[in-house]
Amino acid sequence: MKLSEVKTPCYVIDEGALIHNLEILGRVERESGAHILLAQKCFSGFDEYPIIAKYISGTTASGIFEARLGAEKMAAPFGKENHVFAPAYKDGDAAELARICDHMIFNSKAQLMHHYSSVKGKTSIGVRINPMFSTQKEHPMYDPCVEGSRFGIRREDFDDEILERIDGIHFHTMCEQRFDDLEATVKEVEKQFGEFLPKLKWLNMGGGQHITSEGYNVDGLIALIKRLRETYDIEVYLEPGEAVAIDAGVLVSEVLDVVENGMKILVMDASAACHMPDVLEVPYTPRVTDADEKGAGEPGEKKLTYRLAGNTCLAGDVIGDYSFDTEKKPGDRLYFHDMAIYSFVKNNTFNGIPLPSIYAMDESGDCRLLKEFGYEDFECRLGSENHKTSESL
Ligand SMILES: *Cc1c(COP(=O)(O)O)cnc(C)c1O
Repeated sequence: MKLSEVKTPCYVIDEGALIHNLEILGRVERESGAHILLAQKCFSGFDEYPIIAKYISGTTASGIFEARLGAEKMAAPFGKENHVFAPAYKDGDAAELARICDHMIFNSKAQLMHHYSSVKGKTSIGVRINPMFSTQKEHPMYDPCVEGSRFGIRREDFDDEILERIDGIHFHTMCEQRFDDLEATVKEVEKQFGEFLPKLKWLNMGGGQHITSEGYNVDGLIALIKRLRETYDIEVYLEPGEAVAIDAGVLVSEVLDVVENGMKILVMDASAACHMPDVLEVPYTPRVTDADEKGAGEPGEKKLTYRLAGNTCLAGDVIGDYSFDTEKKPGDRLYFHDMAIYSFVKNNTFNGIPLPSIYAMDESGDCRLLKEFGYEDFECRLGSENHKTSESL
């Protein structure tokens, strides 16, 4: 099936783009000796794990369900690593996580001490540190180093009781950032925690590095990792989410109606609130192309300007204002780009809006359906399974 034939709304994972990213990450692994893990919270399209497993070391999880997904879909079939970090673990989950994860990272000394006896000897234990070193100020929402942050142990709270229980330390302080920011952060981490590194087995530098984006200093990254491994005799881990699947998918949506209210507004069969929540949360305006594969312009730039909006009750369910060379009418398709990441892992059925299907497109451009959703996927999260539907219905 061609991309123009998929049933909307749907996400289409672009395997060619995924492989392009993975080749860069695979090179970083090979040349630096680092272990690279997919942060599943960003992209958990496990139908692609067989491809991902060819290039990188495994997966990391944000809690029990992602850890189980990594264990079942990546670690078991492909012999890859499975790691986990969460701000806190529930008592009932800790032993299971230790059983299915190679590394288990604790966010605080209290969490480490609380769970230590049930996980010790079953997994490699680490703690998240917080150097309180912000390298971006634009998005405090995505800065774990902001004042009042719940993330990680600060240097002044790090002590021997922690040190004697752990194999490694983890930091995650970045979001969509370049190599210079990582380099500066590592310098700061070495200044604060460098004395402990020779006693540890590993250092996990988290995610947020845009390694596969245009112009990233990949050679600098490789050199930095090699230096850390040689200086401290430690294993180095990176756990990118975005970098694995940047620009590796689109959300395909159809125009349902054109409303006039001082401007032309396209009502789509997809929604920012339900299907591209980061558009509202970050916020940002995704790149759009139309059926002729022409890129939409800024409002006013091309002949006709439209506001693209979702099919929900939320007034702010607006994807953005764009301009096109050609008129748009019901039935026309638009493609929202870079929608493999933080998209179907975050979507919801607010307003009872159907969940988009998921397709994969191979390198030849052939699209195959991976999963369709229906009414049951809406109903099953709202109440009891054995509830009897009224006879009168
Ligand atoms: C979000 C997150 C990642 C992945 O971040 P990206 O920005 O998608 O690369 C990795 N590790 C931790 C602990 C995270 O919270």
